[in-house]
Amino acid sequence: MSTKAKEKKPMSLTNQVLISMIVGLVVGVTLKQLGPPAFLQAWLVEGLLLVGGKIFLASLKLLVVPLVFVSLVCGTASLDDIKKLGRVGGKTLGLYLATTAAAISLAVVVAIAVAPGAGFELSTTATFEAKPAPPLSETFIAIFPTNPIKAMADGNMLQVIVFSILFGIALCISGSPGKRIADVFQDLNKVLMKLVMMIMMLAPYGVFCLITKVFAEQGFGAILPLIKYFLVVVLCLAIHAGITYPTLLKTLAGLNPITFFKNARSPLLFAFSTASSNATLPVTLETARDKMGVDNTISSFTIPLGVTINMDGTAIMQGVATVFIAQAYGIDLTINDYVMVVVTATLASIGTAGVPGVGLIMLAMVLKQVGLPVEGIGLIIGVDRLLDMMRTAVNTAGDLTVTCIVGRSERQLDAKVFNADTSGSADVNLQKSFHGALK
Ligand code: ASP
Repeated sequence: MSTKAKEKKPMSLTNQVLISMIVGLVVGVTLKQLGPPAFLQAWLVEGLLLVGGKIFLASLKLLVVPLVFVSLVCGTASLDDIKKLGRVGGKTLGLYLATTAAAISLAVVVAIAVAPGAGFELSTTATFEAKPAPPLSETFIAIFPTNPIKAMADGNMLQVIVFSILFGIALCISGSPGKRIADVFQDLNKVLMKLVMMIMMLAPYGVFCLITKVFAEQGFGAILPLIKYFLVVVLCLAIHAGITYPTLLKTLAGLNPITFFKNARSPLLFAFSTASSNATLPVTLETARDKMGVDNTISSFTIPLGVTINMDGTAIMQGVATVFIAQAYGIDLTINDYVMVVVTATLASIGTAGVPGVGLIMLAMVLKQVGLPVEGIGLIIGVDRLLDMMRTAVNTAGDLTVTCIVGRSERQLDAKVFNADTSGSADVNLQKSFHGALK
């Protein structure tokens, strides 16, 4: 037998993560079923798993601000003329908003048809007073930073995005000094991607901690009383990911949706296990470039933007939750109210940070807008973590779908890379190079 055949191929990182998810799920559900003794609860669930999961999430999040800044500056600076920037920016923004509006419309229609909240017959205290949402003008002004360092320190991603784009444009029009600085940013980008890979080595352990803790605490028990709500959200997420995205990919970009989902495996798993599209950003960026074949000039612009403003899965949860709460409290919503829900949830998704649970907080804004009791959120909070994991995967799939469509329309998608069977190979190569570097 040749040595080549004998050489054992290391398991890809994606597969390692998948396995730790499954093991985490089994261990977590078992712990929940057994009702772990207090010491195990304190040392394992609230100790080891909590610390391990938090450290992993923190390590991923530490990358977000530098990655968004550096990658957007590179992306903008390489879109060499302002016209191109306007065109790519317009397409990207238009698609992000349109897909979110479609997602929430679907959610509202399905929820009205299935009526998951019927039969709850709750009454609301009359003391609830809807505070007006901040005026649109204020929200718009808040996007523009007065101090970019503060914006970065606060993790205010919309402000970081505005500053990065302006900085990138300035580099574009600064001649050779701009070119020199842009080269430094390209190098920085490469260094940051190496840092991403170092942190990714922790992924199988981090994911195990996160998943085990979720299931050890929640099990599946919380779902039962809310099974209809839960299933309607899952159904809408499945329709959006399984029909809307494939249709868009096929019709607007002529791409094979099955290949798309195969290529997207890694970021989808990460999004699911971390419930944070921000934390998944490094993997999404890498996938857009190395597996989808979308040139850096496009992906380093569209992905950080999408991770921040595009939340189709979140919008779906908000649509279903709004209808569910209205039905549970026996409040009739008018057509106008539904239109308001679609508009508010679409705008809310722009302001929703890609971190766990924020969609639920932003739901308060949608409920207030149509005068529904905000305390209704308490009804669905028990099942939100599981739904959060699923909707974050859809959020991430949406970012990648739009990136592929924009990349294709700008002739910046390499079909050879998109169609190549690279399942896991990038991970494996990176693992090899990483371990090689350590030797
Ligand atoms: N966890 C979601 C995300 O990071 C946001 C949310 O819906 O809470 O994309």
